[in-house]
This record gives sequence, C-alpha cells and structure tokens, in this order.
Amino acid sequence: MSNSRTSSRAPLRIGKRLPVTAPLAGGVQVSFEFFPPKNEEMERSLWAAIGRLATLDPSYVSVTYGAGGTTRERTHATVVRLRRETTLEPAAHLTCVGATRDEIDAIARRYWDAGVRHIVALRGDPPEGAARYLPHPGGYAFAADLVAGLRRVAPFDISVAAYPETHPEALSAEADLDNLKRKVDAGASRAITQFFFDVEVYLRFRDRVIAAGITQPIIPGILPVTNFATVRRFSAMCGASVPAWMADLFDGLDDDPETRRLVAAAVAVEQCRALHGHGVEHFHFYTLNRADLTFAICHVLGVRPKRLAATDTARQPAVACP
Ligand SMILES: Cc1cc2nc3c(=O)[nH]c(=O)nc-3n(C[C@H](O)[C@H](O)[C@H](O)COP(=O)(O)OP(=O)(O)OC[C@H]3O[C@@H](n4cnc5c(N)ncnc54)[C@H](O)[C@@H]3O)c2cc1C
Repeated sequence: MSNSRTSSRAPLRIGKRLPVTAPLAGGVQVSFEFFPPKNEEMERSLWAAIGRLATLDPSYVSVTYGAGGTTRERTHATVVRLRRETTLEPAAHLTCVGATRDEIDAIARRYWDAGVRHIVALRGDPPEGAARYLPHPGGYAFAADLVAGLRRVAPFDISVAAYPETHPEALSAEADLDNLKRKVDAGASRAITQFFFDVEVYLRFRDRVIAAGITQPIIPGILPVTNFATVRRFSAMCGASVPAWMADLFDGLDDDPETRRLVAAAVAVEQCRALHGHGVEHFHFYTLNRADLTFAICHVLGVRPKRLAATDTARQPAVACP
C-alpha cells in the first residue's frame, strides 16, 4: 500500500455540466470485460452477470487470458460459449506469453473457425513468480508482432491495450506511444485503456495520441472500485495513479462494503459523465464478473435494457442464466 502512487490533482472537472440526474444523450456505447471462471460456482455467477449485462446491448464483451497463458482453455470455452449461446459479440484476449507463434496461430484459427471475429491482442504479463517478461523463443515478442501475426491468420477485428499513464516497462512515454502506433499500423482497429481515475490523465493522453496521427478510437477502461485496498496495490503494479481525492473518498470504509459500493458507483458515474462531456461515447467496463455495480452505473448514464420489438427477437440476447 505504501508504494502506491498518489496524486494531489484537483477532483474531476466536468466539461459540459449536466444536471446530476440527467442520463447522457443517446449514442453511448458500452462494452464489458469478464475473466474466465475457475470453478462451477464462479461459472454460475459469471453467466448470471452476463445475462443481466447482455440486456444493455454491449458493442462486445471480452474475456481475459490469465497471466502466463494459464487460462487458455477456460478463456476459449467461455468465448466459444458466448458465440454459440448468445447474440453478444465476444472478444477473446490472447497474449504472446509462453507459446510459439505456431501455437498462437492455431488458437487464433480455432477462434476464427468457431465464428469469433474479435481478438484483444496483448503481450501479456509474465507468469506468477517470474521476475520479468521474456519472449518465448519462437514466439511473438510484443503485442505489435501478435497483431501482425493475427492479420496473417484471418481478417480479425483487433483491439490492443493503451496506457494513459505509460506502461511501466516502457523506456519513455514517447516510446510507449510509438508502440501504440506500431500496434494500430499493424492492424488494430481500436485501443482499450488501462484503468485510470483522473479524467485529465485520459484527456491529455488522447491529445498526444491524436497528435501522433493515431485515428483509431481509444476506449477508456472504467474500473468501478469495490475494494480500494486491492485497487491501490494493483495500481502500483500497473503504473496507474490513485488520486488523493479518491483515497479520501474511501477513507474509513475498509469494513463497510455497502458504502464502498455506493461510493464506487458515484465515482465511476462522475468519471464517465466527465469523459462524455469531452466527447467520449464508448466506455469499457472492467466488471470483475459482477453485474450489479456496472448495471447501476450504466443505468444512471442512460444505458438501459433494450425494449425489443416482437419482430426483433433475433437480436434478443439468448443467455442461459442458471
Ligand atoms: C485492456 C487491457 C486488457 C488486458 N488483458 C490482459 C489479459 O487478458 N491477460 C494478460 O495477461 N494481461 C492483460 N493485460 C495486461 C497486459 O498484458 C500488460 O499490461 C502487459 O505488460 C503489456 O501488454 P501490451 O499488450 O500492452 O504489450 P506491448 O504493447 O507489447 O508493450 C509492452 C511493453 O513493451 C514495450 N515495447 C513494445 N515493443 C517494444 C520493442 N520492440 N522494444 C522494446 N520495448 C517494446 C512497450 O512500450 C511496453 O512498455 C491487459 C491490459 C489492458 C490495458
């Protein structure tokens, strides 16, 4: 906790102020990230969450790939089930870690054959216990190489990661931006950001992205914070700063999960509204496989379950909710 980076920046500034309760104007898109379940109970709660969030008609839902490739089969099974049993657009995360190019190409081909068209292409983090990332001999070294490799396999829709506060291993912020440019030049059609809490961090980054000639959308990754202590630890590892105002908001709530959740929703809503005031219309939520908080945030933002016409049942998300 002590090694968390904090900033004393001023609280969020909202570009165009709306009445606090007003939903955002139409056209807001959302997407949701899930992680593959480890056991049957987690599987049940994941599919219940998917069932609830599916009603919000997300642009896509993505499924992570465990550090070091540890969830290869579970990620595949979840993504393919999304494809087969729902009308959602699944996006499979895929990393370069621990596999040869041939192995990764084969995974990608399996996805293509199963009808999966969207891949989130990442370098990946080293497996637990490994001090630092080492490319697999014969593997893709960096995400840009993976994007190029996927393009050779099939015409996937490819998303990549972006870091408003710079990836911790980057030589410099400029080098990291060059890397993002290489990823989009290799064929990525959008980037999803690491989570951040200070809206100005995102806006400054977006300015630099545009100045670098990158025209692809940079979709903000929104993390509703339920466990502040964990997020602080994780932020320190992935180079995301935790503003002082946020520590202040969660102060004294360590043993009060209910209040923490209300605060989390308020923070995420304000963050999204501030971003929307600056022209952002797509939000990617890190759901942590729970629907309630993300659903509530979307509701306040005006993203509501679609009331489908009887003739439009083909679009109805057909999710089996145990
Ligand atoms: C939206 C999102 C989703 C994620 N999902 C997952 C997941 O499912 N599974 C998982 O394990 N991790 C995931 N991560 C974490 C990600 O794998 C790590 O942040 C990882 O450390 C970097 O991945 P990358 O794709 O950004 O790597 P890259 O874009 O390859 O960059 C990694 C680092 O290497 C530097 N670099 C790039 N090319 C070169 C080069 N040629 N020479 C020298 N340096 C270079 C970059 O500047 C950067 O510092 C996710 C992150 C985000 C933001």
